[in-house]
Amino acid sequence: MSAERVDCVVIGAGVVGLAVARALALAGREVLVLEREAAIGTGTSSRNSEVIHAGIYYPAGSLKARLCVRGKAMLYAYAQERGVAHQRCGKLIVANTASQLGALPGIVARAAANGVDDLVLIGADAARAMEPALACLGAVWSPSTGIVDSHALMLALQGDLEHAGGLVALHSGVRTIARDGEQWRVLAEDGTELLADTVVNAAGLAACDVARSVDGLPANLVPRARYAKGNYFTLAGRSPFARLIYPAPEPDKHLAGLGVHLTIDLGGQAKFGPDVQWVDDPTDLQVDPARGEAFYAEVRRYWPALPDGALQPGYAGIRPKINGPDEPAADFLIQGPAAHGLPGLVNLLGIESPGLTSCLAIGEHVAAVLTS
Ligand SMILES: Cc1cc2nc3c(=O)[nH]c(=O)nc-3n(C[C@H](O)[C@H](O)[C@H](O)COP(=O)(O)OP(=O)(O)OC[C@H]3O[C@@H](n4cnc5c(N)ncnc54)[C@H](O)[C@@H]3O)c2cc1C
Repeated sequence: MSAERVDCVVIGAGVVGLAVARALALAGREVLVLEREAAIGTGTSSRNSEVIHAGIYYPAGSLKARLCVRGKAMLYAYAQERGVAHQRCGKLIVANTASQLGALPGIVARAAANGVDDLVLIGADAARAMEPALACLGAVWSPSTGIVDSHALMLALQGDLEHAGGLVALHSGVRTIARDGEQWRVLAEDGTELLADTVVNAAGLAACDVARSVDGLPANLVPRARYAKGNYFTLAGRSPFARLIYPAPEPDKHLAGLGVHLTIDLGGQAKFGPDVQWVDDPTDLQVDPARGEAFYAEVRRYWPALPDGALQPGYAGIRPKINGPDEPAADFLIQGPAAHGLPGLVNLLGIESPGLTSCLAIGEHVAAVLTS
């Protein structure tokens, strides 16, 4: 069968795939995004907290730290320029135990090492002056944390891509990728074949499976995919807080998430979560109402007035992890030709939080990886 030729194929039309596709198209490349589902952004990109993270917790020098801090600046500028709804509402990281309180200066120092130098350590009274419903022993104020409408962001990225001549093909799942002379032969689930110079695998929860389907990619370079589900519970009625509220990490605990925090959306609706539930099935998105019980105790540590029965099961998202429950958090794994020796191929693996915040910086990074 003769195959269509295209310069770049990006697999996956989530926020990361779209941002990468946009960056390549703006660099003058011909780009086709292949998306398995019937619409863009139906994966993790529409099942998250929609928080623009400041870049606080990640190890200094890691991709997560660098791409989050750069991505945050790029995202605020982009959202402003393109009219994507967002709000720089800030967040309070609150301590409710002596050990959390003791950890606050370390959070400020860790952020500073990542270039985030606007955090302020504040006392309980100052925190309550900002948020009267809050109970805490002390807090860190992060003014550059915000929220963004992730779907509007994806539509803007798709618009830029198409304006630059790129395309998104829906119902176009990729089955396998194989070398064919100087190019990649991409086989879609419907039997269609494409020949491409460049393939970027941004398949989110399926990215490790897609990488494993690449003929010639050594199996030991593809980590095992792990899935950490995060459940949200929404609050009936008005949000008691105007800013995001995160519990400070317990220094001795090894968390796969950031604790049951409160986020608000641009409509002012409050939600709590996500918790951490390791699952085997990446399509397991039902929220078990029974998990709400544990939320009440967690939330009442910083909001004692949470009324009984106020939490409703919301939605769930699944973190595309490449580390297991008892292992340290892995960094983003962005594998280009320097890592695997295969020309024109980039795998984006383990793009969990802060992937939304980092998307524009990931796009820039992948474009650089492909030209270096
Ligand atoms: C609970 C939770 C909360 C989070 N909160 C935040 C937050 O507040 N801030 C933040 O910065 N980040 C957050 N994140 C992380 C962020 O949501 C992700 O990093 C980001 O959405 C990943 O985008 P993506 O494009 O890589 O993946 P996805 O959005 O999952 O997109 C991948 C796409 O690939 C498609 N696909 C899969 N297989 C194939 C195939 N074979 N062929 C073609 N297409 C395929 C899928 O259908 C999907 O559309 C959170 C994540 C979770 C789970």
